Amino acid sequence: MSSTAKYIFVTGGVTSSLGKGIIAASLAKLLQARGFNVTIQKFDPYINIDPGTLNPYEHGECYVTDDGAETDLDLGHYERFLNVPTSRLNNITTGRIYNNVITKERKGEYLGKTVQVVPHITDEIKRNIYQLGETGQYDFIITEIGGCVGDIESLPFIEAVRQVKWDLGPTNSLVIHLTLIPYLNAAKELKTKPTQHSVKELLEAGIQPDILVCRTEMPLPMEIRKKLSLFCNVNLNSVIEAMDADTIYDVPLLMKKEKLDERVLAKLKVQSKEEPDLDQWKTFLGKLKNPLEEVNIGIVGKYVSLPDAYKSIAEAFVHAGAENDCKVKLKWISSEDINKETVESILAGLHGVLVAPGFGERGMEGKIEAIRYVRENKIPFFGICLGMQCAVIEFARNVLHLADASSTELNPKSKHPVIDMMEEQKKITIKGGTMRLGAYACKFKKGSKAQTVYGESLIQERHRHRYEFNNKFLEQIEEAGLKPVGINPDSSLVEVVELKDHPWFIGVQYHPELKSTVLNPHPLFVKFVEASINHKKVSS
Ligand code: GLN
Repeated sequence: MSSTAKYIFVTGGVTSSLGKGIIAASLAKLLQARGFNVTIQKFDPYINIDPGTLNPYEHGECYVTDDGAETDLDLGHYERFLNVPTSRLNNITTGRIYNNVITKERKGEYLGKTVQVVPHITDEIKRNIYQLGETGQYDFIITEIGGCVGDIESLPFIEAVRQVKWDLGPTNSLVIHLTLIPYLNAAKELKTKPTQHSVKELLEAGIQPDILVCRTEMPLPMEIRKKLSLFCNVNLNSVIEAMDADTIYDVPLLMKKEKLDERVLAKLKVQSKEEPDLDQWKTFLGKLKNPLEEVNIGIVGKYVSLPDAYKSIAEAFVHAGAENDCKVKLKWISSEDINKETVESILAGLHGVLVAPGFGERGMEGKIEAIRYVRENKIPFFGICLGMQCAVIEFARNVLHLADASSTELNPKSKHPVIDMMEEQKKITIKGGTMRLGAYACKFKKGSKAQTVYGESLIQERHRHRYEFNNKFLEQIEEAGLKPVGINPDSSLVEVVELKDHPWFIGVQYHPELKSTVLNPHPLFVKFVEASINHKKVSS
């Protein structure tokens, strides 16, 4: 275990969805802004080894790291706030913990002992907590425990937290408990009882929270703070109010006002190197809140009724909008609603259209139809992963007149599989193991728009897909005007296509949205928003 890193745990009580990830990321941001190195880790209590196989409707977007881990969408928040990449060490599930323990058991590493939740599962959890500290890279490791205190699933994690606190002592670890203070309209009162109960539950598990962060719709009056302090054994100045915010990006400033970072430093007896430098963050917020322009951008996808399924795309537009001093209004469009008859009315009034990533054939024809419309009407188009693949299919069908052109995902029998699975992928049949995952290089052709957008000719972007542009059709497609301008230098796979004689038509096989952060808005999103602003000007 690292002797220098300090460990902070964030637990949740009363209800889920209180925004533990945002509180963890905001605290991390404040500590980082004081010059500390911080990372955040998420423990998920479900049995899946990772969220890669989960339906986005179940769990929102699957966020992919540079090292190819399929992780919880909270890791996206961590990266967007901290501007530092995470890795597979940052997201651990119950499934992975058990898998590790059972694998060790099969190898005989427990020397004939009975393998039990305590100590073997809890030891494995602790090993994963300390692993990040042992890298020596961090002053603080913030670990978010998914789920609510009292859930059966999170018990081993809570027990591991208790042990870490005991092992390390009060100046090396602390627990922040995030809870809800409901406002009862009929009584016109904020209620502390659910929080008292949830703290009691933590106490039963042997954990005294050091800091309470209280989600509330109303400011917390002093008498409520005093009550919470008295009944939950938490110092009065460690009862932190977390009011509902206009944007998640306000939360670091709200937490600073409530001195969350100062309380953490004082409890862990750490001298602050400097006052938090949040100038760039505030500049971003200023631009976000005072837009000079407004554009409507359509997102055509399959899971649009749950915007969390496209969390990183939505956030990338927040960053890119602010960069352009522009409010980006997103219109979520279900691709299943689009056909030849409806496309014009559904896409009316949009200044740009993004066709989203996705899996399976449902809704794919609608995506292809939307792309035909924006290609012919010269509306800015941005295709991501499946969106890029659909652009290639649309072009092959309607420009090259290969009527049955398709992806083998959509039509395995197509005679013109312009998107196909590569030979190496075909050999692997187990679901969850067949994808091209994580960071791969892409080299741009000189003079391409993509190269101008990035201002670089060799980049790295993250991937999560099985199918690829089929190079057998490359020449034919290129000659007709859809240019493969970004190529993976090692495998020659096509990474980026762009259309000749169109104001802005770019499709990328990778996921640029995963690398957009507050301090580093993604250039493709920034330029796409700019193109949409320009389109609005010329079309009105
Ligand atoms: N379904 C496509 C593939 O597997 C695209 C995946 C995606 O959009 N992430 O290649």
